[in-house]
Amino acid sequence: MTAEIIDGKAFAAQIREKVAAHVARLKSDHDMVPGLAVVLVGEDPASQVYVRNKGKQTVEAGMAGFEHKLDAATSEADILHLVDRLNADPKVHGILVQLPLPDHVDSSKVINRITPAKDVDGFHISNVGLLGTGQKSMVPCTPLGCLMMLRDHHGSLSGLNAVVLGRSNIVGKPMAQLLLADNCTVTIAHSRTTDLPRICRGADILVVAVGRPEMVQGDWVKPGATVIDVGMNRIQHPDNPDKTKLVGDVDLAAAAQVAGAITPVPGGVGPMTIACLLANTVTACCRAHGLPEPQGLTA
Ligand code: NAP
Repeated sequence: MTAEIIDGKAFAAQIREKVAAHVARLKSDHDMVPGLAVVLVGEDPASQVYVRNKGKQTVEAGMAGFEHKLDAATSEADILHLVDRLNADPKVHGILVQLPLPDHVDSSKVINRITPAKDVDGFHISNVGLLGTGQKSMVPCTPLGCLMMLRDHHGSLSGLNAVVLGRSNIVGKPMAQLLLADNCTVTIAHSRTTDLPRICRGADILVVAVGRPEMVQGDWVKPGATVIDVGMNRIQHPDNPDKTKLVGDVDLAAAAQVAGAITPVPGGVGPMTIACLLANTVTACCRAHGLPEPQGLTA
């Protein structure tokens, strides 16, 4: 079997189009512009790239982007003060504090200071609790993007066996909650799981978020399964030691021989994450003003 390659780049472009269309309607019908504030503390190069891309795509979707770049030495109190200001700003509907924060800052304290309704990353403890209890919440962007691709591919996920490999708070755990809410039978596997290959082979849906380059082998995959590879690992290029290459947590070539469908790296889950951030910002704006939420842009 050769798997269908799920094109996350094209799917993310469709999501951004839907977002832009909704933003245009909010403007024309309600004179309203959704606003996303992004806070970056320090000069982590990867974070700078993410923040730049987020800002660019926010503006392209017709929304207002507010970037706050703070020095790495900014005190926790000053960051909390900025979050308070953004919470109170009616032009800001979504707030994202780029992680990781410098070591002297308590990330949980900062994230939990964001008003839950503006927490477009879905990391606030209230949103985690709402998602876990099946209530309306802001849903973390990366797992939301994975869910959208799975729903698009399968239609209904009801009754399917899903294995989520990885149990982080930002990917693995919310992913498992979303799949459970869509009536999958969910197993969460991690570094202490015994016989991972056997567990993975039981999955109709295998979502992998471990941060280990190409760890999942072809013979870990059930024939015909759908594999979602969240991993983003930069490794030395096999043909050129001076270059690097981005690979996922799944051996794409081997797994694609067995799976029914698979997301590539790059071009799979990655582009969906920012698209879902924009989607969450529009959703947050609509909820803040008691307007109907856009269809198909949240869980
Ligand atoms: P994380 O916080 O480091 O969590 C990794 C998880 O994988 C942990 O639960 C860990 O288990 C498990 N794990 C690690 N090694 C394992 C092994 N050998 N066998 C089984 N389980 C193992 O990572 P994360 O933040 O979830 O990110 C995971 C990957 O996704 C990374 O490559 C990251 O760059 C990528 N990512 C991509 C996006 C995107 O937009 N595409 C967004 C977020 C993350 P324990 O809990 O037992 O330690």
